[in-house]
Amino acid sequence: MTANVIVFIIVFVLAIAFFAYSCYRRFGLVLKGKPDNRFNAFFKRFWNMLFYAFGQRRVIKKPFGINHFVLFWAFMVLLISNTEFLLNGLAPALSFSNLPDGAYFTLACIFDIVSVLALLSVIMAVIRRFSFPPPYTEAKSRDAFIILSMVAVLMIAFFGMNASEIAAGTERAAAYMPISNFGAWMIPSGAGGLDTAARVFWWIHAIVLLSFLNYLPYSKHMHVLTSIFNCFFMSLEKVKTQSREEFKKENTFGVGQVEQFTWKGLFDSYSCTECGRCSDACPATFTEKSLQPRLLIHDIKMNLLKNSAKNGSKNLPLIGGGGEGSISEEVLWECTTCGACMEVCPVFIEHVPRIVEMRRHLVETKAKFPDELLTLFENMEQRSNPWGIAPAERIKWAADIEVKPFEAGKTDYLFYVGCAGAFDARNRHTTLSVAKILDKSGVSWGTLGRDEMCCGDSLRRLG
Ligand code: SF4
Ligand code: SF4
Repeated sequence: MTANVIVFIIVFVLAIAFFAYSCYRRFGLVLKGKPDNRFNAFFKRFWNMLFYAFGQRRVIKKPFGINHFVLFWAFMVLLISNTEFLLNGLAPALSFSNLPDGAYFTLACIFDIVSVLALLSVIMAVIRRFSFPPPYTEAKSRDAFIILSMVAVLMIAFFGMNASEIAAGTERAAAYMPISNFGAWMIPSGAGGLDTAARVFWWIHAIVLLSFLNYLPYSKHMHVLTSIFNCFFMSLEKVKTQSREEFKKENTFGVGQVEQFTWKGLFDSYSCTECGRCSDACPATFTEKSLQPRLLIHDIKMNLLKNSAKNGSKNLPLIGGGGEGSISEEVLWECTTCGACMEVCPVFIEHVPRIVEMRRHLVETKAKFPDELLTLFENMEQRSNPWGIAPAERIKWAADIEVKPFEAGKTDYLFYVGCAGAFDARNRHTTLSVAKILDKSGVSWGTLGRDEMCCGDSLRRLG
């Protein structure tokens, strides 16, 4: 065993041990969350993961998403190359160069071309950040540039290593590696020290690769480790604004501390790519309210991390503490629960349930809500509709037609009209039209008439 291999084994073991420790600390926090079964329907979930994570379906909907698509797939392909690189460092006999010529030359060609695509994507990402940056400052954060620089150095070291070997005449796939070959062509013929240069580039590649791995859990790019799995864990139903709750004495209501979220809620916060698509789609953000769904998810993550830090600001309130890692009450009440953020999120983060859970804590545990809601809550309590209109008005929409009451066992379908359909002047026309269509189609239907009550949707959304 050479000294080079021994040193690399030591470096590798230390790096992997530290990475494992970081993951243990970070992901151990996720397990503090409440249970949520996201392991059912395995094959459906697996398909979703392939379609949305590997297919990057939502990412490529934005023009610049194609750059991320290229970088993502370059990463996937180079994962194979880098695994071989590390194994080869540990045991030099393990190498793709031992494969038959056809297979080895094909792989060498693919890795060469994919590496240059990755490098070009990084350059594009940097140009974008300076020329037409996303509308939030974190896009130009130090973190973003550290990661981009690391990827660029990895690619340059890869080409440097291969070019040196080609120039030294020790790379038998040289003819199939156009970019590395070009690099070798630029090295003056007869240059000495090519073996040393190849070794230096090899070590640069190894150190940056292991540093990159260890930096991920502590950077905003933690999503590299989590977002694919988050697509696997996506909700298979239309995401509910709130689960049903049971009013038992020992129960807690809503979420006032970060670990009261489910583990999926916490894992969501680790999976955010900080792409800003949710904020771009949010009506509150683009009407210049304080709410930015991207920041809200970021604050959940920071609250989890800060409250678990050994020397950090423990007991940072999740709601109303001020600063990074705490969400203001104002922000929570600015959400319309429209769900536009969830429709565009490429990694299927569930913003609305998180917001409503925190509202539920404010309303049910703290009795804190905007004054305007007091009237609505009273109307719901006393008249079972948000506007406080007399229940007798519920059937006014049917003044000109005959509507039968629903009778269980006799009537086939219940036409549940709802508050908006029954009270809103414009919606009443729609309700009437639906009733006429039902009559024309010969369906047996009926309504609950004056006994119909609000479905409670507004109340659930308001916590
Ligand atoms: S659900 Fe709330 S946070 Fe999401 S886009 Fe609509 S208003 Fe914004
Ligand atoms: S929550 Fe989703 S859409 Fe919003 S910034 Fe994060 S990854 Fe992008």
